[in-house]
Amino acid sequence: MEYLTLHNGVRMPLAGFGTFMLSGESCVHAVAEAIRSGYRMIDTAEAYGNEKEAGEGIRRSGIDRRELFPVTKVNFKSYEHAEETAMQSLAHLQTDYIDLLLLHWPFANYYAAWRALEKLYAGGRVRAIGVSNFEPDQLLDLIAYNKVVPAVNQIETNLYCQRGTERGWMDKKQVAHMAYAPLGQGNRNEMFGEPAVLALAEKYGRTSAQVMLRFLTQKGIAVIPRSTQPAHIRENFDLFGFTLSDYEMAALSALDRREPLIGRPETPELVEFSLTW
Ligand code: NAD
Repeated sequence: MEYLTLHNGVRMPLAGFGTFMLSGESCVHAVAEAIRSGYRMIDTAEAYGNEKEAGEGIRRSGIDRRELFPVTKVNFKSYEHAEETAMQSLAHLQTDYIDLLLLHWPFANYYAAWRALEKLYAGGRVRAIGVSNFEPDQLLDLIAYNKVVPAVNQIETNLYCQRGTERGWMDKKQVAHMAYAPLGQGNRNEMFGEPAVLALAEKYGRTSAQVMLRFLTQKGIAVIPRSTQPAHIRENFDLFGFTLSDYEMAALSALDRREPLIGRPETPELVEFSLTW
């Protein structure tokens, strides 16, 4: 396992497990399976409605809580009650501290929510606080008018949406980059079949998913792929036994379409749609 050191010195695993759309027993099983396969970082969110199941999966894995790195997100609909919501997340996850707590979207009153997170951080209930889906202008504005710099920005990032511009600003402010939808949510089959990806998969005896995840982690981007299939869960974690050359990294960088699948928070249609979530 490789790690990233956040700006406050906390070590964060570079590969974790995502739980979006997972629910019930299948979520519990998938989380326990992931941890038994070696994952230590588990990503959930209040909005996913599965923090309890993620917490149960963590408990059933039998691995010492102190070795794990749960990540959760406060939903923007609860931003006025961010502190209470976070305390509920702690109870759901069956823990008395969270390793990384994020604001899910830059919607609603996220300044008030950020200050609530700063308070929880100062009180030691969370080891690091960060944001998600923040565009560079929003991130810089939040940093300019608050005390704590977000340790992480979790944004959609994959082969077709590499986020070079966003990364430049994040690096400048020491905000670590975490990729969601690192496999394009499995909806972009052409990504898995890109000739450059297939050629590298063959050269290294790996799968397309492993090549794409390795590409991101080699750029220092943390990844949190989701799967319920034990073979894929194991495969998506087995990333650190090979290294892509500079030339190979450049070939994959050239496939960037700078096109998010899920959208950008400043899109009016997305803001309108978010009201239905
Ligand atoms: P993903 O890119 O992880 O893709 C998941 C899909 O890929 C699933 O359909 C899965 O079956 C398939 N898949 C997984 N491993 C595979 C493999 N080895 N070979 C072939 N197919 C494979 O998409 P995601 O779940 O949306 O993103 C990952 C995580 O990021 C989420 O689970 C969630 O935790 C987080 N997330 C955060 C936000 C946010 O707003 N912050 C938004 C979306 C997702």
